[in-house]
This record gives sequence, C-alpha cells and structure tokens, in this order.
Amino acid sequence: KKVQILVCGGGNGAHCLAGLASLRPNAEVSVLTLYADEAERWTKVLVDKKLKISATYNDGTNGELESRPKLITKDPASVVPNADIIFMVVPAFAHQQYLTEIAKHIKDNTVIVGLPGQAGFEFQCLSILGNKAKTCAVSSFESLPWACRILEFGCHVQILGFKESLGAALLQGSQCTLSAPAFDTIQWILGEKPKIKPIQNYIAVNLMAKSIIHPPLMYGQWSKWNGQSLDEKPLFYQGVDDLQASLLSKVSDEVVATAKAIEQQRSGIDMKDVIHILDWYKEYYRYQVTDSSNLMKAMQTNKAYDGLLHPMKPAGDGKYVPDFSYRYTAEDVPFGLVVMKGIAQIAGVATPVMDEVITWAQGKLGKEYLVGSELKGKDLPSSRAPQSYNFHTLDDLFNV
Ligand code: NAD
Repeated sequence: KKVQILVCGGGNGAHCLAGLASLRPNAEVSVLTLYADEAERWTKVLVDKKLKISATYNDGTNGELESRPKLITKDPASVVPNADIIFMVVPAFAHQQYLTEIAKHIKDNTVIVGLPGQAGFEFQCLSILGNKAKTCAVSSFESLPWACRILEFGCHVQILGFKESLGAALLQGSQCTLSAPAFDTIQWILGEKPKIKPIQNYIAVNLMAKSIIHPPLMYGQWSKWNGQSLDEKPLFYQGVDDLQASLLSKVSDEVVATAKAIEQQRSGIDMKDVIHILDWYKEYYRYQVTDSSNLMKAMQTNKAYDGLLHPMKPAGDGKYVPDFSYRYTAEDVPFGLVVMKGIAQIAGVATPVMDEVITWAQGKLGKEYLVGSELKGKDLPSSRAPQSYNFHTLDDLFNV
C-alpha cells in the first residue's frame, strides 16, 4: 500500500515538500491549500507542466528534479481521511485555520508534522484535536529544512540550501500505533538532508524556535527611531549593532536559563539542545559565518543573510517607514516570544529583557499579552502561550 502524504500550504516550503515527496516511490502526495484561489491556480498550472525544483546542494553542485503531486485541492474531506502523514508547511498564523478544518477528518494513527511547528504548535494541536490526540502523533521541527523560494507559482521552486541537520520532537498519543517510526518516514520523505535530530521533549523544541531572533533586533532598531521616513530600507542582519546583538544575546540567555531551570525541577528531562544563539550560529551556519568571534559579527558576516532588509512600507513620499505588521513581530511575538515567556513563567524564571521586548512589540501590534512582567493581558488567548490552553504547571506541560 502506498504511503498517503498530505502537504498543507501553498507557499515556498509547500512547493518544495510537494515536489520532493512526489519523487518517492510508493508514495502518493496530495496538497491542501485553503488560501484564496491557490488550489485552482496550482491545479491549472500542473495540467501541462511538472513541478520543478532547482536545488543547490551543500557541496556547491546544482540539480534539477521534476515531479507532480497527485492532487491539489481546497477540500479537506477529499484528502484528509486517507492521509497517513500530514505536513503543515504554512506560517504559524495559519495553523489554527488548517487544524480546525482538518481535525474532524483525521483518521487514527496519523502523524501531524509542523514543518516548522514554531513555538506553541503542540499546545494548539492538542487543544484542537481534543480526544483525537490520543490516537495521533504530533511532531514539530525547529525550522524549515531548506532556504527556498518560489520562482514560478505552481511549477518552479528554488532550494538555495539544505540544512545539515534539524531538531524535531514527537508526541505520540497513548493509543497511536505507527507501522514505522515517525522520524524514519519523515526522513524518507525529506531525503538525505537535513538529517533529523530527535529532541528528547517538545518543550525543548519550543525553546529552540528561532522566532527569538527578529523581535529583539526590531526593538533595538526601532525603539530609538525618531519617526522620520527613510530614504533606504536598512539591512536587517548586516546592519546589526552592539545594542541589538546584546538584546538578542540576553533574550537567548533567558531562554537557556528557562531550560536549565526545568531540567533541575524535572528528573529525566534533557534540555541540552537548547543552546545559546551564538553557539547555534557557530553550529548551524558553520560554513556561512566568516567571523563568529561575537554575536554581532556572526550575524553581520553570515552569508545566508546577505542583503536581507528590514520590513518597510512606503511612506508616500518615495521613502520608507518600518512595517510592524510584518511576521517579524506579528508572528514571532504571539507564536514565539510570548510562548517562551509563558514557559519561563511556569518554570519560575524571570525574563526582564524578553519582557521589555514583548512590551514594546505588543504596543506596535496594538495587542496586550503582558501586563508588567506577567502574562495576563487581554490578548493572551490569541497567543500560543501554554497559559492560553490552560497549562499552568510543569506537570501540565509534561503530562500530556
Ligand atoms: P510563505 O511565506 O511562502 O507562505 C505563504 C503561504 O501561506 C501562501 O502561499 C498561503 O498558502 C499561505 N497563506 C498566506 N496568507 C494566508 C492567509 N491569510 N490565510 C491562510 N493561508 C495563508 O511561507 P514559507 O516561506 O513556505 O515558510 C513557511 C514557514 O517556514 C514560515 O513559518 C517561515 O517563517 C519558515 N521559514 C521559511 C524559510 C524559507 O526559506 N522560505 C526558511 C526558514 C523558515
């Protein structure tokens, strides 16, 4: 019997995964995209074309791969009931819509994968799946396996780089039985790279989410801004200064302290994969960072970041002002920092720098998650903090 793979989404990552998975023998791949008219448009494009992936491998060689998913649809009932494994490859703000639409159709022993999950993915999954979570498995990856972008919608995507390895956690329901270990199946679908690195527990993966990077850099850059429009969009990473690097480093310290505190309070819990952001750059961007003597230099000299700019919008006078509705704040705060703050609060760890960043960002977003140093703002339920789903103690977090 062929493995039934469902890819949810229609963006860069969804194109890559749909293409790669369709290359596997013994697999049948469907795509579910609920967004606008993406399903119709993608279906039309593939009538007389294949989906091409132009890939640059880590040894510098290039390759082209061609395949075609079996079906692209916006109707969950036509694809979810058959799926053995369901990948969510959409920005975190779209997870709720997908999970809500697919939940009632999911059969027993299905694996649901957040690729990437982003912080709070499991809390949201378990809440929406309800009792069904017992018969399913939920996995979340710390990031997307590739740096990638669509070149032509529906039929051509570029993989600029494959991650060498990628951390992932798995929560398998007590009544879920899988015919093969979930990570073996996912590795087979992804191919050789990245190599999946199993992380001992899902809270560690939540604390490993890279959503910690953007908000402190945004805060460092724009909290001192005088409100004047700018002639050019500033460089996001190559322009990082001492203040921004120091803010990010301190937020990362608070995340690592949270992991350590949990390890001390729970026997058997291993948090060694929650590492400081500078160590992460040294490990994950070994070949791209040319100066890793400190965090500021590591970001300024990371080739993977060349030319990336601050999110800006036109000011009307031919100049630019910052766009605080971009996902660097709109996504990375409610589905990132606020979740980590929630875990820190449960672990009893103070996070003054994270609080400062969240307080500034929520003002720009017109939201209230934090009041002082406590997560009790009126918009908390719309974030994925554990408290939004009634997780209030370490027992709640680890007895799922
Ligand atoms: P993307 O920006 O390509 O996603 C766009 C897609 O999301 C759309 O095609 C649509 O299917 C869906 N979408 C957009 N707006 C929507 C809405 N209002 N309602 C419902 N669906 C909507 O995303 P991506 O580049 O594939 O990235 C997926 C995730 O991976 C993100 O969390 C991103 O931060 C992360 N990531 C991406 C890269 C990369 O190289 N692309 C690298 C690392 C991490």
